[in-house]
Amino acid sequence: MNTLSPSPLAMVPFVSVDNMMRLVNSIGAAQMILEICEYIEADFKRWPEFDKTPRVAAHSEEGVIELMPTSDGEYYGFKYVNGHPANMARGFQTVTAFGVLAKVLNGYPVLFSEMTILTALRTAATSALAAKYLAPKGAKAMGMIGNGAQCEFQALAFQKVVGVETVRLYDIDPLATEKASRNLKSSGLNVIICRSAEEAVTGVDIITTCTADKQNATVLSDNMVGSGVHINAIGGDCPGKTELHRDILLRANIFVEYPPQTRVEGEIQVLDEDHPITELWQVINGQADGRTSERQITLFDSVGFATEDFSALRYVHHQLKNGGHYINLDLLADPDDPRDLFGMVIRAKSAK
Ligand code: NAD
Repeated sequence: MNTLSPSPLAMVPFVSVDNMMRLVNSIGAAQMILEICEYIEADFKRWPEFDKTPRVAAHSEEGVIELMPTSDGEYYGFKYVNGHPANMARGFQTVTAFGVLAKVLNGYPVLFSEMTILTALRTAATSALAAKYLAPKGAKAMGMIGNGAQCEFQALAFQKVVGVETVRLYDIDPLATEKASRNLKSSGLNVIICRSAEEAVTGVDIITTCTADKQNATVLSDNMVGSGVHINAIGGDCPGKTELHRDILLRANIFVEYPPQTRVEGEIQVLDEDHPITELWQVINGQADGRTSERQITLFDSVGFATEDFSALRYVHHQLKNGGHYINLDLLADPDDPRDLFGMVIRAKSAK
């Protein structure tokens, strides 16, 4: 009953940005990425159980606003997320997000959470998970082109999950690289600041591209990619927004999250519709090959899929029991008599 004291059933745990930061700091960013990675992996393993649909995208000249829903039959989750490459220059985040997890049984939300930080954690976790299956064995060095908001999360994920020891950073804005280098100081990573993308990818086992630009850009050209490299391409995630030269795609074995979404949004949007690709969940399940030779170029064409957000929300929901980093929101109208919604409104007036 919401009038004066809402019933506990109608209260929805809300994880604010402040509380998400408390949660991350109490667990440790790298450890939390590792744990989210395990949730994402577990959910990829039961992929057929999920309702799947490409995200619903509203495009504008400046960017995109998207809704990303999915359900495993027991829980339903969605994320609201934007992608506005010009935001950073205007003092806003390129990507912001929030999300909800709800019980399918009665449709009541069980978690409402900030997801800007959580998206960075889950994107890094997914990238590292893909690399665990696809990167060359014993990979120790990663080049990172684009050192914005996602960069440090990616670096920590590859250190913790894949065993990367050195990151070579490059951004067209040296201030971004300085920022990332400063933030990674106590990580134990060997951080090398580079003056060009070519320098950043020299001698590395893994290349991560995480730039933001609403165009078919070439942050990586074919001559920069040697045999045996794993490419983790996260910045090409929207129609008309890609990062890699097409020739790289033609040389690589390409792995994707959900083909109907990636064909429209990923690097592969520049290829023929029937160009062969492999679904990551099948590699994780042992139903498809990942890396099969030392000389092979593997490419994870990441765009971000709803099940990854679902896994991250599921993880945060489980953490509520441990840390208590949330407040309860009076989000659901809950009259004593479910049919007497109007009566509840009237009684609230006289109760004042
Ligand atoms: P951001 O704006 O904070 O950082 C982007 C950085 O790229 C900036 O520092 C910019 O200077 C740099 N940059 C732009 N063009 C470059 C170039 N040609 N060479 C080198 N550096 C360049 O953005 P962010 O939040 O870090 O996100 C990065 C990208 O990742 C975005 O495109 C975003 O849409 C995408 N993203 C993808 C996923 C996913 O699941 N695949 C999730 C989150 C974000």
